[in-house]
Amino acid sequence: NADTALYKAKAAGRNRILFFNYEMKEAFEKQHMMEQGLREAIKHNHFNLVYQPQFNLKTGRTESLEALLRWRHPEWGMISPAEFIPVAEESGYIKEIGDWVLETAIREIKSIHQEYVHISAVAINVSALQLREAYFVHRLKTLLKKYQVNPGLIEIEITESIFIEGGEEVLETLKEIRGMGISIALDDFGTGYSSLNYLRILPINRVKIDRSFVQKMENDTRVQAIIKSVIDLSHNLGFNIVAEGVETQKQLLLLKSMNADVIQGFYGSKPLNWTQLHEFLKEPQTL
Ligand code: C2E
Ligand code: MG
Ligand code: MG
Ligand code: MG
Repeated sequence: NADTALYKAKAAGRNRILFFNYEMKEAFEKQHMMEQGLREAIKHNHFNLVYQPQFNLKTGRTESLEALLRWRHPEWGMISPAEFIPVAEESGYIKEIGDWVLETAIREIKSIHQEYVHISAVAINVSALQLREAYFVHRLKTLLKKYQVNPGLIEIEITESIFIEGGEEVLETLKEIRGMGISIALDDFGTGYSSLNYLRILPINRVKIDRSFVQKMENDTRVQAIIKSVIDLSHNLGFNIVAEGVETQKQLLLLKSMNADVIQGFYGSKPLNWTQLHEFLKEPQTL
């Protein structure tokens, strides 16, 4: 009961008062189960990547893809990365999982680009913990060499949250990555800690406007003004702009009129598995 739980929490040396209620117990057990599940998934390779096409607004064509991680548990079925990535980050498993993503995306873009030369970039999401690993840049170089991949084919996606601690070191790592000729995109821009200072110091060449803005833009002139300003600001800084989560033609037309460079979203295409991707690329749809 609550009293014993409170006693235990205090006895455990916490200086906060903790009430363990049923929901917390459930959440705790769920987290624990998910951690065990991730450990199994790493061992038996229950992961795969899907690829979401990005469309160039000038040509209407797909020139790049974002790699998105998928986990299918043999009993629980598909689990959303929004759910398991945070657990993988807390448990540290993201280092191994992220490394698998890196290698798989590099190997697969090689084969995609060989068959479809107009696909000239794959964007890979990278977590803070991965970037802080001392060997990250070295690992990146090793993989590019192993699969004979031109660094220009790779884009690394980061979010501002990587700067919450240890910003200085991460900045050096990012500069090294850019120096190799790899593109860097700032993901989910506009959420979280968006600060103009990040646009000043980060060695990025792309900004991705978060889908929460895009999805509110149709009937909200204030949101439209914010998006337009972010696009102009990014262009003035020499960055190009990807709008995420585009689901309607109206959003697309608005973004086009505002001079966005690239769109990504269900309106263009959902994320595609390997078979679907090949079907899509054989007869590429234009916007
Ligand atoms: P993200 O990097 O911002 O990826 C875009 C997310 O938006 C994807 O969700 C994609 O499926 C979804 N999306 C794309 N277009 C639309 C649309 O038109 N409408 C809606 N409602 N959603 C759309 P997903 O695949 O579930 O991934 C969620 C997040 O998980 C990603 O957000 C990213 O932060 C993280 N993630 C995914 N794969 C990896 C990975 O390999 N490594 C790391 N560290 N994080 C990953
Ligand atoms: Mg992303
Ligand atoms: Mg995003
Ligand atoms: Mg995101």
